[in-house]
Amino acid sequence: MALESMSDLLLDQLKDLYSAEQQLVRALPKLAEAACSQSLKEAFEGHLGETEGQVTRLERAFQQLGVKPIARTCRGMEGLLREGDEMTHESGSESVRDAGLIAAAQRVEHYEIAAYGCAITFARLLGHEEVVSLLEETLSEEKAADDKLTGIADEEVNQAALAAPSTTE
Ligand code: FE
Ligand code: ZN
Ligand code: FE
Repeated sequence: MALESMSDLLLDQLKDLYSAEQQLVRALPKLAEAACSQSLKEAFEGHLGETEGQVTRLERAFQQLGVKPIARTCRGMEGLLREGDEMTHESGSESVRDAGLIAAAQRVEHYEIAAYGCAITFARLLGHEEVVSLLEETLSEEKAADDKLTGIADEEVNQAALAAPSTTE
């Protein structure tokens, strides 16, 4: 699709996000399964529910703009999730792997935060306030998910990971 206008760019960004969130819906159960820490498992499971709602919210945003929801494969999310998947297959200390899963998941959340921030700016410039509200709801969930991961790392996982014996020194 040619980007003739900012409306085209907003749609382009929404299609990318629609793909990104759908990819995440498929990936989060695998991350939850791989997590050893119960609180990390629950954080991934909780964000799965939110992410399903975010897919629906994007469908409502497309509806508001009078277009059919179409995904355009998000290469960024594809790459981030490939790295997350690699982390789930790492051997060694379970706590260290959990710390790695958090690092991978926080990259995902920051990527989403950047993407929603730009989409919100474009929607606001175009006067699509209903779309702005929908996207802002999701943005606040992404920020909360990121904060939650920081909390689990600080309060539990990083300390446990630090206690794992080092075999390379
Ligand atoms: Fe999301
Ligand atoms: Zn993307
Ligand atoms: Fe997210």
